Amino acid sequence: AIEVRGLTKSYGGREVLSGVDLDVDTGDVAIILGPSGSGKSTLLRCINHLEQPDAGYVRVNGDLIGYRESGRRGGDTLLRELHPRDVARQRRNIGMVFQQFNLFPHFTVLGNLTEGPLATGVPRDAAVVRARELLARVGLSGREDSYPSQLSGGQQQRVAIARTLAMSPEVVLFDEPTSALDPELVGEVLAVIRDLAESGLTLVVVTHEIGFARDIADVVFFIDGGHVLESGRPEQIFADARHNRTREFLAAVR
Ligand code: ATP
Ligand code: MG
Repeated sequence: AIEVRGLTKSYGGREVLSGVDLDVDTGDVAIILGPSGSGKSTLLRCINHLEQPDAGYVRVNGDLIGYRESGRRGGDTLLRELHPRDVARQRRNIGMVFQQFNLFPHFTVLGNLTEGPLATGVPRDAAVVRARELLARVGLSGREDSYPSQLSGGQQQRVAIARTLAMSPEVVLFDEPTSALDPELVGEVLAVIRDLAESGLTLVVVTHEIGFARDIADVVFFIDGGHVLESGRPEQIFADARHNRTREFLAAVR
């Protein structure tokens, strides 16, 4: 499960997240919607501690991310920053897939999938076996020796998803995973995410693909101006949002 409480983050004195609370149960799919600049990417980057929040905290399966509790003063829990090595270990459990696939261009597909596991001490044979399984899962068996530049955007994004899964995360964050793709390639990537959604992973997906969101979401969060303006079941949010802002946004992206 993911538990976000009071998450606050400013850049240069401007608050872009203002006390965000968010809960996602284990195995559930959370969809994050919101206009450009509302703080969606910043929220994802705080969940996996690519960004340090100014206030608030994130727990993933009970683990406080980036900090440890070091005592209490008055009613407050004192937090200390974790050693970067320990943050890196936590982060391996929280996969992230970006809009721009971010593959290593000078590595083959197989190299992209094995690099992370090898760096964490997985034996080469095991890493290769697992990489081949994951490539089959994303429909790319036989492309082991291709370089990213030889693949379509949809194929590259499927490799990026497989690479994330190679680290065996319990949670995967997607930041507009299909926004950089030609329209005819969107479906193949959404199909892979749909498969993951059914596999028991906990997913947080920022997307403007409303039909897809409606199909796979267990819970939807609408973010506006650094706040969660509303959240709920997809049936409720898509059919009968409480706030005008949410309804206007949905009407504009549909
Ligand atoms: P989009 O839909 O365009 O991706 P978003 O909801 O993901 O938008 P964020 O990328 O989280 O929005 O950005 C929220 C605000 O914070 C924006 O105004 C952005 O310019 C600002 N911002 C984000 N990252 C930084 C940074 N590293 N330094 C300064 N400002 C930043
Ligand atoms: Mg963004």
